[in-house]
Amino acid sequence: MAKVKYDCSKCPGYCCSYPRISVTKKDVRRLADHFGITEAAAWKKFIRRYVVEDGEDKGEIEYILKHRKDHIYATICQFFDQDERRCTIYEARPSVCREYPDGKICGYYNFLKFERKHQDDKEFIPSA
Ligand code: SF4
Ligand code: SF4
Repeated sequence: MAKVKYDCSKCPGYCCSYPRISVTKKDVRRLADHFGITEAAAWKKFIRRYVVEDGEDKGEIEYILKHRKDHIYATICQFFDQDERRCTIYEARPSVCREYPDGKICGYYNFLKFERKHQDDKEFIPSA
């Protein structure tokens, strides 16, 4: 695979703060297996039902990962380690997380790099 031009280890995990990280039935089955619980328990524990509020999918139902409060972004995926800033279920993460950012470039990472250079601060975290 071609080398990617972003480094998630230098990023506070912006993509994991997206409010709507949708899952499929297969994703939930994988989560259930990972935690050794039933699928019904995994749905209840990890997933939230969301009704799309606008756009062409308005009114459609999505099933998304539950979030919790974060000290950098407003909220973040409940599977995110907020101190280490990484996914705690990497092997069992949903397919949408596996696919992101779907290419060699991550727009947020470019933004982060630009702002850090501009501020002359390697740790700087811009508000997205
Ligand atoms: S926003 Fe981009 S650089 Fe940051 S963790 Fe996600 S994929 Fe990696
Ligand atoms: S499952 Fe992992 S990779 Fe996906 S949003 Fe949650 S913390 Fe991020």
